[in-house]
Amino acid sequence: MEDVIKEVAKVLLESKYAVALTGAGVSTESGIPDFRGPSGIWTRDPEAERRAYEVYDIFLRNPREYWERVVSGTSILGDLEKAQPNPSHYAMAEMERMGILKCIITQNIDNLHQKAGSKNVIDFHGNVLKLRCIRCGERYLKEEFDLERIVGEKKVPLCRKCQYPLKSDVVYFNEPIPKDVYARSFKEGRSAM
Ligand SMILES: [Zn+2]
Repeated sequence: MEDVIKEVAKVLLESKYAVALTGAGVSTESGIPDFRGPSGIWTRDPEAERRAYEVYDIFLRNPREYWERVVSGTSILGDLEKAQPNPSHYAMAEMERMGILKCIITQNIDNLHQKAGSKNVIDFHGNVLKLRCIRCGERYLKEEFDLERIVGEKKVPLCRKCQYPLKSDVVYFNEPIPKDVYARSFKEGRSAM
C-alpha cells in the first residue's frame, strides 16, 4: 500500500494538468449512502430506483406536481445539506491550493468538494443547493426561493430570465447533462491528456 501511495504521489507531482474524477465512494465516509454498493439505496430498495426514473418526466409533464413531491418528500440521500466533508475532500482541496490538482469533475450532487474549499469543481450531475432552468440554462441558489410558500400557493419557482419553471439542478434519470457542464468537462478532460 505504501508503495502504491508513493507511486501515485510521484505521478501527480510529475503531472502537468491533473483532473480528479470522483463519485459516490468519496462521500460515503461523510455518511451519504451510495446507490449500488452492498448497502446502497437501489440495492436495498429497487422500487425507489423505479420511481427515480419517473421524476424528470413528471417535471416535464406537470412542474407543479413535481414541486409538490419535492417539497413534501424527504430526499432518498438523507439530509445532504447538513453533511460535512471528510479527509479525502479536504486532501483534494489542499492539492488544488498546492497547484497539483487543477479540476475535480464529480458525479456527486452533495456540494462537499466546494464545502471543503475546492474551487474548480464541475458538478456533472448538478448540485443539490441549486435550481436550474432547462430552457435558458440559468442557475439560482435554492435558498433564494421560499419553496414551501410558493408550492403552498399552488405555484412553481420561475426562471427570472425567461419565466420557465425551474427544477432542481440535480440531473435526473433520462435528463440530458446540461450543455455547459458537458462542454467544460470535455475541455478539462482534454487538458489532462
Ligand atoms: Zn430561463
